[in-house]
Amino acid sequence: MTLQATENTLNAGGCYCGAVRFAVSQRPVVKGQCHCHACQRMSGGAPHYFMLVPPNGFHWTAGTPAQFTHPDVEGAVTRYFCDGCGTQLVTTRPDMPGTIVKIGTLDDPSGFAPRVAICHADALEFHTVPDGVQVFEGLPVA
Ligand SMILES: [Zn+2]
Ligand SMILES: [Zn+2]
Repeated sequence: MTLQATENTLNAGGCYCGAVRFAVSQRPVVKGQCHCHACQRMSGGAPHYFMLVPPNGFHWTAGTPAQFTHPDVEGAVTRYFCDGCGTQLVTTRPDMPGTIVKIGTLDDPSGFAPRVAICHADALEFHTVPDGVQVFEGLPVA
């Protein structure tokens, strides 16, 4: 595991207590918001705002996150979180290379703007999608 942030860090982030830290060194290939019910459960009801970072563009720089893969869900994602403070940090999918970073864990999330809204079939009435964002009822077909 790489423990030092690379020189070309574009973004850094971590959990609420600061034990687990990461660096992003490549530009995201997808920026979006997911409305699925699992994301609502993790977020407190809002869509999850995320960016997909290419496989070599994500590095843990401090601490070791705990992880969870649902044993009862086929093709389940793996969720990484701090087992000290509980913050959800990133997700990986078995069918997709790269790391899905949760925008709220970035030290400076202010530059983020979603381009796609996914799993919108699960959206709650009070969820909003910004103008110009492409909406997918499920997952976009690659
Ligand atoms: Zn923590
Ligand atoms: Zn989701």
